[in-house]
Amino acid sequence: MSNVIIKRPKEIFELFSSLGNLSGVGEKKINLLEKKIGPYLINLLFYLPHKSINRFQYMSLKEVNHGDILTCEVEVVEINIPPFNFRKKNNMSRIITFGLNNEKNVRLDIVYFGQNTQYLKNIYKVGNRVFVSGKFENFNGLGQIAHPDYVVKATEKKLIPLFQPIYPLFYGINQKFISKIINQGIKKIPLIPEWLNKDILIKYKFPNWHTCISRIHNPENNDDLNLNSIFRKRLALDELIANQISMLLIKNKISKIKEIKKCYSNSELIENFYSNLPFELTGNQIKVINEIKGDIHSNKTMVRMLQGDVGSGKTIVAVISMLNAILDGSQAVLMVPTEILAIQHFNTIKDLLMPLKIEPTLLLGESRSVYDNKTRSNIIKQIEDGEIKIIIGTHALISKKIIYNNLSLAVIDEQHRFGVKQRVEITEKGNNVDVLVMTATPIPRSLALTAYGDMDISVLSEKPIGRKLINTYVLSQTKIAEVLSSIERAIKAGALVYWVCPLIEDSENSDLIAVNERYNFLKNNFKNINVSLIHGKQNQIEREKSMNDFKSGESKILVATTVIEVGVDVPEATIMVIECAERFGLAQIHQLRGRVGRSNKESSCILLYNSNLSSIAHSRLKILKENDDGFKISEHDLELRGPGEILGSKQSGNLEFKFVDLHIHNHMIPVARDEARKMLENEYDKEKINVLLSIFENNDAIRLLKGG
Ligand code: ADP
Ligand code: MG
Repeated sequence: MSNVIIKRPKEIFELFSSLGNLSGVGEKKINLLEKKIGPYLINLLFYLPHKSINRFQYMSLKEVNHGDILTCEVEVVEINIPPFNFRKKNNMSRIITFGLNNEKNVRLDIVYFGQNTQYLKNIYKVGNRVFVSGKFENFNGLGQIAHPDYVVKATEKKLIPLFQPIYPLFYGINQKFISKIINQGIKKIPLIPEWLNKDILIKYKFPNWHTCISRIHNPENNDDLNLNSIFRKRLALDELIANQISMLLIKNKISKIKEIKKCYSNSELIENFYSNLPFELTGNQIKVINEIKGDIHSNKTMVRMLQGDVGSGKTIVAVISMLNAILDGSQAVLMVPTEILAIQHFNTIKDLLMPLKIEPTLLLGESRSVYDNKTRSNIIKQIEDGEIKIIIGTHALISKKIIYNNLSLAVIDEQHRFGVKQRVEITEKGNNVDVLVMTATPIPRSLALTAYGDMDISVLSEKPIGRKLINTYVLSQTKIAEVLSSIERAIKAGALVYWVCPLIEDSENSDLIAVNERYNFLKNNFKNINVSLIHGKQNQIEREKSMNDFKSGESKILVATTVIEVGVDVPEATIMVIECAERFGLAQIHQLRGRVGRSNKESSCILLYNSNLSSIAHSRLKILKENDDGFKISEHDLELRGPGEILGSKQSGNLEFKFVDLHIHNHMIPVARDEARKMLENEYDKEKINVLLSIFENNDAIRLLKGG
């Protein structure tokens, strides 16, 4: 069922109606809601409360504190409602009440502001008893509630909900309003056929979808919003199934039956390559190379991910894979996210292939002036003619203008910087393209299954022999003088130093240390030492010069933004300083740290933090000091900051889960996977799949399948 056509079924059109159809939502509000929540009813239904409060926790006028929600019975004693006055917008009405039972001497004022509050006369009558519920305020020693959320007759206490969901708010929208429109929306949910199978519903005691959505917005007890409640769990399972279906569909889309390549396992070319390598491959590298070779020579196209911590030696695996692929005369590409990396890979690979007399080609975007337009169009022509076999480049490799003669392998390095879209696009550049994606961000298993469920996974678990642990220090920014003097000593002894600062310009926070400023500071501080600067806003030539100066040791310090995060390989660099380390994700720092420790020399990483750092943030940084294993670090990141932090923003577009928390719901991934398979196998489930994928269409993979 690889050719499922995903389209929104009629039954659920209502879920995609505009929020403007809800009463109380005018043009102004629509704009606010669309920006923050989304355009459709379904987006509103998926806007979740972050907590709920017990309305009846405080029922005593004597015990309630300023700011608490108070719900209590009072007797109306005096009513002051001024006449309608169109000139006074904030005309105040005051209802004076006193508590009941043993609080008869405690006064509570209920106040309202507005031009016309005449309607209050119907609600309050002197001598009546009412239940009021709202935020209690202590106003100059007088207790009051302004605009209570509920006022009901003493006999109608039941009309006040026990629990109130609290939503994250934004400008122009308050709790009352959001609650009101969500509940209106819930009433509009159409009748949708159940998509979960009976066994699952029974096994987990799951209510239907409608009930779950409704209950999450109208919790009846403290546990309803808990991630483990059956309501939340069912919604999470639905989402995981949608995710797994889309993963399987993408796999079907990419993975094809192909002709088996002729087997050249003892090729002279590859033997020749091995004998020219300056080092021995590790056992792990050999194992992974064989896995890939197996895929290349099988009758199905490869869809494989290679995970290997920074510095584990993935590049060489990529090169050998490309050599294996081109033995039959076809082409292979290596796609990377940044130009710096493309150029670096190009240079490394050119050197490696020199003894074989194979010349790789570099392909960058049109606007880049590494070569003139004529050269570029020449390259493009040679790619089309099949004269060039190995091409290294950026996104330019998938641009419409590039036509391959016979592309058989695409290696994508630093996959976390790309989305699922690029993965599919590159496979569409040839008939049977094998895909190998490589990532240095180790991905916890639960994430791998949901983000890369469509791929086979290989892991490079050991680093080349002789690598030393990187000494990591977590220091306050106030210690900078000491850092500078130890760096100076190290440089005199031959070290090269990376100095990383958080982003420039794009950031609104003026307290961010701009790399430019830091660069000038370091230049002034080290009069006799050359300092280079590198960041994303420089042009190609400037950037390349900085990189080369640093590589050759001409300059000793490279001040950089996170442009150097991925892949940069300068083995002589042994010190990494990261300023405002608290602003980075742990996995990201681990990546940056991986730029050093690439030789057999001692390396260190110095994490500087702002002095007023919270103890939580501080212990977060300490995780890095204590862990060298990228897998462990990314588990921590997943726990602390969520999948976006590990996968990067592009990749996590695929994983913006609404209901799933991978830490809590990971045990349901296999269940979801199983269900997804069954549904795809069953012709009758086509409609259900359509409903499910439509409901969760706010997901990269699904959008892609729909051709969006
Ligand atoms: P990453 O996995 O981070 O992409 P690289 O491929 O850049 O790592 O490799 C890091 C460094 O290790 C490179 O300088 C590379 O030449 C070297 N290297 C790779 N494999 C080995 C090996 N088996 N023995 C020694 N050095 C190796
Ligand atoms: Mg790399």
